[in-house]
Amino acid sequence: MSRIKPIFIAAVLIVAWSSLALAYRAALQVPEPTIEPRIVNPGPAGGRPSDAIVLFDGKDLSAWKSVRDGAAAKWALKDGAMEVMRGAGDIQTKQEFGDVQLHIEWATPSEVKGEGQGRGNSGVFLQGRYEVQVLDSFNNKTYFHGQAASVYKQYPPLVNAARAPGEWQTYDIIFRAPHFDESGKVLKKATVTVLHNGVLVQDHSEIMGATTHEPVQPTYTKHGKAPLRLQDHGDPVRFRNIWIREL
Ligand code: MG
Repeated sequence: MSRIKPIFIAAVLIVAWSSLALAYRAALQVPEPTIEPRIVNPGPAGGRPSDAIVLFDGKDLSAWKSVRDGAAAKWALKDGAMEVMRGAGDIQTKQEFGDVQLHIEWATPSEVKGEGQGRGNSGVFLQGRYEVQVLDSFNNKTYFHGQAASVYKQYPPLVNAARAPGEWQTYDIIFRAPHFDESGKVLKKATVTVLHNGVLVQDHSEIMGATTHEPVQPTYTKHGKAPLRLQDHGDPVRFRNIWIREL
């Protein structure tokens, strides 16, 4: 008897311990993914991924149209870049988008003219409504939520990663479109993450509503997929190598 009792207690302890360990592991368990990630050829460094939709490759403006009248985009085409044609107005893509990853390169004029918002101003309007500001922010003071890579009049960039005027700069943008219910109520606000010249400047910023330069609270109006728009703010800003991936 005296030898059986300790063995019995040890067995009970082992079973109890094993059960606890099993329960603990079950609680921690990560589900085994069943869908293999799709293969995307990233292309060479500086290239574009195999599933990117090319919006501008330096050859023509065929993916774009005038916002004003829907006619052909009338911006200038030179040296593999498109340039804002003062007075021609904003241009937008013919295709409409929801959640996207966007790559776009831009350069403000090398000859510096004007100051503040009047220097190298343009803009990347996600879904035609939400502006990531394009501006010459190299030694150019303006209000912080109006400088390059700001979500215009909403969020300043985390840092100023601007290159000198005339130099090519990049934006890599991850945009999640807003969600609405039937009545137009916002279920989920849009968010945007931006890398400016490879530097994080917007980190999942929650967009407050459509961009407005007025001193009013931005608001949302229900919409679905919408074109990407580039701004004619009167300055000859250039763009090149624009591609987008639907997410
Ligand atoms: Mg602008």
